[in-house]
Amino acid sequence: MKKPIVILGAGESGTGAALLAKQLGYPVFVSDFSPIVPVFQKILEQNGIPYEGGKHSMDLILNAREVIKSPGIPEKAPVIQAIRQKGIKIVGEIEFAARHVGKCTLIAITGSNGKTTTTRLIHHLLAFGGLDARAGGNVGNSFAELVMQDIRAQRTNDEKRIFVLEVSSFQLDDVDKFRPNIAVLLNITPDHLDRYDYQMANYVKAKFRITMNQKRGNWLITNADDPEIQGFLAANPAYVRCKMDQIKQADLRNGYVRIGQKYSFDVSSTALQGPHNRFNAACAIRIALKLGLDNMTIEQGLYHFTPPPHRMEKVAEKAGVLYINDSKATNVDSVFYALQSMDRPTIWIVGGIDKGNNYQILLPHVEKRVKAIVCMGLDNSRIRAAFDHLHIPTVETASAEEAVEAAAQIAKPGDAVLLSPACASFDLFKNYEHRGDQFRAAVLKR
Ligand code: ADP
Repeated sequence: MKKPIVILGAGESGTGAALLAKQLGYPVFVSDFSPIVPVFQKILEQNGIPYEGGKHSMDLILNAREVIKSPGIPEKAPVIQAIRQKGIKIVGEIEFAARHVGKCTLIAITGSNGKTTTTRLIHHLLAFGGLDARAGGNVGNSFAELVMQDIRAQRTNDEKRIFVLEVSSFQLDDVDKFRPNIAVLLNITPDHLDRYDYQMANYVKAKFRITMNQKRGNWLITNADDPEIQGFLAANPAYVRCKMDQIKQADLRNGYVRIGQKYSFDVSSTALQGPHNRFNAACAIRIALKLGLDNMTIEQGLYHFTPPPHRMEKVAEKAGVLYINDSKATNVDSVFYALQSMDRPTIWIVGGIDKGNNYQILLPHVEKRVKAIVCMGLDNSRIRAAFDHLHIPTVETASAEEAVEAAAQIAKPGDAVLLSPACASFDLFKNYEHRGDQFRAAVLKR
């Protein structure tokens, strides 16, 4: 009996890896220390893949030929330590899928903020231009599942295929030879530091792994104005061995995205609002140009793009007041960009579970643009402590409905109500989607 591939974690990525390993003809065993969510359990059962939930059977796991680890499992987990001690190779699902993807163009996007939006936008532009592009990775279908589908359809020799992959730093921790043709590193600001020994330098290094195997002929698109990125490049001048495109904020002014001397795209009438979205657009436009799309198609594609929900999503204009759902803004940095892009007096709904936020960087924008603060959370003391000295009217609420009601009472025609919480949602909601959905429903009910 051949030794099995063992997959740790049975979420989107683990289940995808299991399907791919099975399709490749390996014996497979899936083990998750938590109970497995019914949808994934069903997929494993339907495909005859043995699994266990709520435990790790070490005898089975330590019999693996190779282990594929889900990104949520930290290196310090005892199960990982035991596997390492036994000398069994551990890879991530992205690495495993990349080994079997065949001929294609791989585009990988990472960054602390903007990954999903940029992944979706790149995919949208390429598909709009008639290219054979699919999106996945850390959002939507796992890369392994996309590869499995192609093996089934006998398409792995089809060079025209393009994969647009969102990749998180946890996923990058477990790559080895993964080499995107085009990599995008959007920005790096403090996040997930608990997984990186509270060392920013470790987190920055993890993000740069996106380019570690890139060679001449590949591209890295990155951010000329990001201090962490520029600091790393200055300290490690030989690290990037491929061509680099560095996007400058100065090229993204007045609703335009300028690319070199030749191109200028008007994004002012698209849904891509705010400087951060112009930056995301600049990355996507560069890729579309590199892959041969013409200006007209790109401009039309930009115009037809609908950003994913919960990210500066314009919900409705009611009684002259514009309601915006930015529930995905779970850290201070994304709120910074949200507030910066507001061109109306703003009633700001903020709060939830504070992950040790430093609100200092928001003060200038809050002072300039926010006319009232609506706290939405069980404990709003840190928000009050950060902003009380500005003497901006502040109310406390404990549900989306209450928050919308309070904001609507204050708002005058021409104002905006912005939900951009800077915090996790678990005190009042299941997740950020639930929070954004409740906000949207409360607005639409008015
Ligand atoms: P991610 O997938 O990296 O979490 P999203 O596209 O889901 O990123 O956006 C998360 C939050 O970050 C949203 O509030 C969004 O408005 C904001 N955002 C989007 N693009 C950027 C960017 N380039 N820089 C900073 N913030 C951004």
